[in-house]
Amino acid sequence: MPVENGQYQNHAVAFATMHGKEKAVARAFARQLGASIRVPAGIDTDALGTFTGETPRAGTMVEAARAKALLAMQVTGLRCGLGSEGSFGPHPHIPFIPCDTELLLFVDKINEIEICETLVTHRTNYQSCKCHAGEDISDFVKSIKFPEHAVVVTPSAPTTKILPVKGINSSADLSEAILNASHASSDRAARIVTDMRAHLNPTRMAVIRALANRLARRLATRCPQCSAPGFGVVDIDRGLPCCWCGEPTQLAIAKVFRCAKCTFERRVKLNSAPKTADPGSCENCNP
Ligand SMILES: [Zn+2]
Ligand SMILES: [Zn+2]
Repeated sequence: MPVENGQYQNHAVAFATMHGKEKAVARAFARQLGASIRVPAGIDTDALGTFTGETPRAGTMVEAARAKALLAMQVTGLRCGLGSEGSFGPHPHIPFIPCDTELLLFVDKINEIEICETLVTHRTNYQSCKCHAGEDISDFVKSIKFPEHAVVVTPSAPTTKILPVKGINSSADLSEAILNASHASSDRAARIVTDMRAHLNPTRMAVIRALANRLARRLATRCPQCSAPGFGVVDIDRGLPCCWCGEPTQLAIAKVFRCAKCTFERRVKLNSAPKTADPGSCENCNP
């Protein structure tokens, strides 16, 4: 539902993206805030770090997203900006499960606030595979939803002889790239990696869309005390007591909502949470 006379109604938000991510956020910002997204031309976000690692990202994901948002605001002269960062790797708690961590950071120079939302999900095709020219890789390409999702091909052994071939989304191009990469590699093998750039990865685009919805919803929520936008969950209170020994466990008790502007904070108990924790979750009873 559109927000009437909302804080960001008819505002334009600067968003530096080379990979079409505005498609994933524009709808949420229009519907929930009445705001539009403006992508400045000619900003090379890859210069601030690439997922393939040719340009390492400087600092944390938050710092990188903030740098992109501020750069977009500087170029456009707009007072609100958005930065996006993604990171891919094994799941922090479940090894061998690939995981996508997405972050969206909103900078608002009108209210002097910064709002950050993150989403960690195993909903990703992030994967790689080593193969030789002519090898049957049909199971692998099917599992990563190729060719709807593009891939990057590099030689398996590090070499400066050829560059990675990115954005491959046809079987003919894939075969050719594998042939060239394996010839250039000392072990005669190629490595296929999923191309995680948003415009070539519909699964990632959908995750960013979900995160943009969450961020826009939060921006549409005002602080009950100072009415600044962006009131939302910033932390989880842990320490649900064990039902055997009463010691605090790592299980959640409440969500912590906090204002981005003033110090107002509200704790909301989790409805579904039990009053005590199972001893299986207790480090005292089940070390
Ligand atoms: Zn406040
Ligand atoms: Zn216990």
